Amino acid sequence: MVKMPVCFVGHGSPMNAIEENEFTEGWKQVANAIPTPKAILMISAHWFTRGTYTTDVKKPKMIYDMYGFPSELYQVQYPCPGAPELAKKLLDLFGDKITIDNHWGLDHGAWSVLVHMYPKHDIPVVQLSIDGTLSMKDYYELGRQLRSMRDEGILIIGSGNVVHNLRQVDWDYQKNPAGAYAVPTPDHYAPLLYILGAASEDDRIQVFNEKRTMGSLSMTSYLIG
Ligand code: ZN
Repeated sequence: MVKMPVCFVGHGSPMNAIEENEFTEGWKQVANAIPTPKAILMISAHWFTRGTYTTDVKKPKMIYDMYGFPSELYQVQYPCPGAPELAKKLLDLFGDKITIDNHWGLDHGAWSVLVHMYPKHDIPVVQLSIDGTLSMKDYYELGRQLRSMRDEGILIIGSGNVVHNLRQVDWDYQKNPAGAYAVPTPDHYAPLLYILGAASEDDRIQVFNEKRTMGSLSMTSYLIG
């Protein structure tokens, strides 16, 4: 089986789900350029929890975790299969550090991107929550543990937003005023740390959608592998 790349996607506004723009075009191009995954493990900024959770249902439900948008956005469906086997793998990997919580499903950090990357919704998807009590280094270490999944045809996608250049990642960015200004809360930045953890030293890094939008959102995305 081919080794899958890992991907960090800047998801930006939920409106991207129902728009066609330069970013959604970038997401499509990446999905077309990489091997078709057996399943997708999605680490979205919008499932930010105390403790690490995942779901193991056959059909993940839609989570409309955004407010004040046009009604059209709340009609978006992404009826993909779930991946209970993948959830099982996560339980094996993380042991007592992870819990099943089937109250969640797919949030807009996942579906707003997936509707463009895999519009046929035929690939099983599972979300992994981000434990807000952990450090940036912990996220990286968890990503390390996910690394072996790449050899099993699983595409790991981190969905958030950064303004950082990957080559300038500084583990102490929180102490840097510019860093704190760029990412005042860890939720949208943390998915990148998992992705970096799941990367290997010999991976090639490609940057795509390298643009800023709405004044304070970086859509910059990374394909690693
Ligand atoms: Zn978001």
